[in-house]
Amino acid sequence: MKILAIDTSCDDTSVAVVEKKNNQIRTISNIVSSQIKIHAPYGGVYPMLAKREHQRNLVPVCKKALQNAKLLNLKLKTKNEKPQVKIKKLRIILKRDELLLKNTEKFLLKHEKPKVGAIAITNGPGLEPCLWQGVNFAKALAFWWDLPIIPVNHIKAHLSANWLSPISGNHKSEILNTKRAQFPAVGLVASGGHTELIYMPKTGQYKLIGSTRDDAAGECFDKTARILGLPYPGGPAIAALAAKKESGIKNQELLNSKGITESEANGSWRIELPRPMLHSKDFDFSFSGLKTAVLYNFKGNNKTAWAKEIQQAIIDVLIHKTLKAAEKFNAKSIIAGGGVMANKELRKQFKNKIKSTKLRSTFHVPRYRLCLDNAAMVGACALLDKPKAIAWPASNASGQPAVDTAFLAGVANAGWQKIKVNGNLKI
Ligand code: ADP
Ligand code: MG
Repeated sequence: MKILAIDTSCDDTSVAVVEKKNNQIRTISNIVSSQIKIHAPYGGVYPMLAKREHQRNLVPVCKKALQNAKLLNLKLKTKNEKPQVKIKKLRIILKRDELLLKNTEKFLLKHEKPKVGAIAITNGPGLEPCLWQGVNFAKALAFWWDLPIIPVNHIKAHLSANWLSPISGNHKSEILNTKRAQFPAVGLVASGGHTELIYMPKTGQYKLIGSTRDDAAGECFDKTARILGLPYPGGPAIAALAAKKESGIKNQELLNSKGITESEANGSWRIELPRPMLHSKDFDFSFSGLKTAVLYNFKGNNKTAWAKEIQQAIIDVLIHKTLKAAEKFNAKSIIAGGGVMANKELRKQFKNKIKSTKLRSTFHVPRYRLCLDNAAMVGACALLDKPKAIAWPASNASGQPAVDTAFLAGVANAGWQKIKVNGNLKI
């Protein structure tokens, strides 16, 4: 069964088509429309601007995703009839989203129902005005095409990205499938909005064991980058600067700095930032102190050295806490995801650190692009975590939705109209 998946949790509009085949989740198409240029002048995501862009982008992105999956077919022109009752209902579903309604109505009247069995949609956590755009669009499609909706938790989706096979190319060895995944596992999601450690006894089961008490790791990258005068998003900007060679460093051993200091000897610079909550007994994180330390101590010099140390402080905390959780829960695998996991140095150090310890856990991280927000991971999550979150369409004319009944077996009729968004949805 193919699933049409949608994600509008933050500033990316994304629609994908995925399918489960031979224990693998196949990505058939995965379109992401990024809004980075729009939000860059503000140094962060401007929610109302993001909402407007989702309204504008959802239909074109959906069309492209269906087209790439070879599922976009124009309606054959029969009589020039418009299903007035249906249109009236559609207008009620999208009554608050004028631009989205205009685009959606045109699109639905012109195109055939695609051969997909369900619609997966992120309903939280995220920015509520943005989440509503995706959810209302999903409701409109589900109503028009008589399909069930699967609401998906965005954090779970980030972990599910590890099960996605690529559209093309051969990356088989890295991809989890329903047979290869080893449980119990410990999941780490590090993104712009979240830093969470999750215990996973088996596929589809999640228990939150730790999270950030203030800023997320990605937010720390973004905010400290701003202090350094680097562009948004800060993660890739800091990573790029940190990868540069520092000029002038001759002998680090000569330096003996304590605390948050920036010191120089023989033209070499050494900065030491705190590693907040590194040795706390729980699995929680805190990154706001790190941000404040940069704010009070950065004087405009040695940006490369500062970028290296900011990145390393975040890496140290993420790796230490994750490995501690893996040890405590006897994790057979560590499954990571989220935008921050696109960081090359973090991925490298994670792998090296696991090798150098007694831990027996395998380490899994999605390919770079799939660490960032995308809809394919939402579809993967819907297929992996089946079927508890499924809501049936209430408008079903035939009484049975045209989906794989084995997939939907035992699912209660939740009623898709009731699907709400929750910006703080917990795992
Ligand atoms: P969201 O937080 O909305 O779920 P993503 O999962 O796409 O969004 O994560 C975006 C975050 O990832 C941003 O904070 C960004 O700075 C960070 N990020 C992206 N690439 C990198 C990188 N190479 N290194 C560190 N952080 C990164
Ligand atoms: Mg995300």
